[in-house]
Amino acid sequence: MSARVLSGKELAASVRTEAAERATALAAAGRPPKLAVVVATADESSAWYVRSIARAAEKAGIACDVVDLGAEADPARIRDRLAELSADDTVHGVILQTPLPRGAKLEDLAGAIAVEKDVDGANPLSLGRLAAGLPAFAPATAEAVVAILDHHGVDLAGLHVAVVGRSTVVGKPAAHLLLDRNATVTVCHSRTRDLAAITAVADVVVAAAGRAGLITAEHVRTGAVVVDVGTNPTEDGGLVGDVDAIAVADKAGALTPVPGGVGPVTTALLLRHTVQAADRG
Ligand code: NAP
Repeated sequence: MSARVLSGKELAASVRTEAAERATALAAAGRPPKLAVVVATADESSAWYVRSIARAAEKAGIACDVVDLGAEADPARIRDRLAELSADDTVHGVILQTPLPRGAKLEDLAGAIAVEKDVDGANPLSLGRLAAGLPAFAPATAEAVVAILDHHGVDLAGLHVAVVGRSTVVGKPAAHLLLDRNATVTVCHSRTRDLAAITAVADVVVAAAGRAGLITAEHVRTGAVVVDVGTNPTEDGGLVGDVDAIAVADKAGALTPVPGGVGPVTTALLLRHTVQAADRG
């Protein structure tokens, strides 16, 4: 068997087009949408990601301010800046980029982002609202997992989904979104005993551990759907997921590629969230 490739590119393009149309209408109505990305790191892959968000935003007619506070920024200063941006009527979406300076925790600082501008679902209140089934922006990556499955016609109701990873940005919110879609969800993590025994009985495996090649053929049931969220830089400047794509493609029924799967959908959803926030604000 060779797994069907579940590309994210077409979905991302249509979400970007829809966001651009909405951005044009908002600008015409005197409310041009604006996203602010707060950065406090010198990490090169983070800088690459921020540039790609800024480029995508500008192409869609969404202004994007990158607020670089420097890798040594004090947590209190980051928090104050997030609060200022949250209070700024011309800003509709606020993102705090990771990694953060030593001693700073995303969950602590992101509480300063107003929930209605929290377009990457980083404020713990957003996660709580999501868990309670109340309106909130989900972290874009977690939402991208469900969106890519929807786009390719995977009906999640009743399926057993194994999520590998329990971070507050991917694993946990993805589990809530999958539960909302009536999937039966098992969340695995680094202390899970016999990971393969759990993932190999799942209909869908969502790999979000940040470990290149963690998911091999033995972790996957024949015909299963595999969503690879991982983005692990390689020595030659490339990017690989958490799934050993060559081995798994022979066994799985469908697999998202890296790059070109969850990544582009994530960026497009950030744009969608920003115009939605501008629409409401
Ligand atoms: P993270 O905060 O480091 O969390 C990783 C999770 O994986 C943790 O829950 C950890 O368990 C679990 N884990 C680690 N090693 C494991 C193992 N051997 N077996 C089972 N579980 C294991 O990472 P993250 O922020 O969630 O990101 C996960 C991956 O997604 C990374 O590669 C990241 O680059 C990628 N990502 C991609 C996008 C995108 O747009 N495509 C966006 C965000 C993140 P413990 O909790 O027990 O430590």
